[in-house]
Amino acid sequence: MRIVSWNMADRPPGDQSRWETLRGLGADLALVQEAVPGPHHRAVYRPSGIAGRDGKARPWGSAVVALTDEVSVTPVGLAEGWWQGRSLGLAPLDCVSRGHVAIARVQARERSFTAISAYGLMEFGYASGTLLRTLADLEPLLDDPELGDSVILAGDWNIGTWWSGRDAKYAQREGAILDLLAAYGFVDCLYRDLPVGRGRLPECGCDLGDGCRHVWTFKKAGSERAYMDDYLFASGPIAEQLRNARVTPDWGWQAGGSDHAPLIADLDA
Ligand SMILES: [Zn+2]
Repeated sequence: MRIVSWNMADRPPGDQSRWETLRGLGADLALVQEAVPGPHHRAVYRPSGIAGRDGKARPWGSAVVALTDEVSVTPVGLAEGWWQGRSLGLAPLDCVSRGHVAIARVQARERSFTAISAYGLMEFGYASGTLLRTLADLEPLLDDPELGDSVILAGDWNIGTWWSGRDAKYAQREGAILDLLAAYGFVDCLYRDLPVGRGRLPECGCDLGDGCRHVWTFKKAGSERAYMDDYLFASGPIAEQLRNARVTPDWGWQAGGSDHAPLIADLDA
């Protein structure tokens, strides 16, 4: 079974070929961003798009989509934190209500896990705050015995550690946010599964020298510099079961219709 996370960049919305691209990649389950599913999709999403705090209209959003009969998805809109065996009550998930995050409980054959498609909405110029607020929202879910046991958290977060020069402070801040995920039990699957001897990504502009472990997930128009804005993290048993997390090899930036490359990971049958 194959899981794909992808910013589809379907704006203006309506390009159906992107869904064919997902099927062509062999996806059974898709965690998508800047996506516009329709009623014909078996998808968890906010139909009117994203309601950002800045009031800008965005008729697209995040979704968790079942693409084959192997998979079913059930929406999650509330989470119940627990402490010392006691419920802390049902907590709302503002990130879901606003549409920049979609959460589904996934049933795939005998396996059950929570899939979170998270988009780093750029509000007032910053996406880092969106991810911090999302993580704050998710804390009860991660402690919820029914939902936090086994979690995939993936998407275009619009943050990274590739900043350099006078912008290096953003690499520090955003790297710290990515590190924070480890404290909640998440594993960075792309980082884990990158071949040990790969070396520096040639097109990367980061300040990390030979320590560069970036993968190229985002291409700015007119630029040949590599950016890594997309991530695939997991916690609990599903983190162990996901194999070979990677960016789509030889991704054709133009042919794919999006300026982001899909992330792929496989689950044993
Ligand atoms: Zn790098």
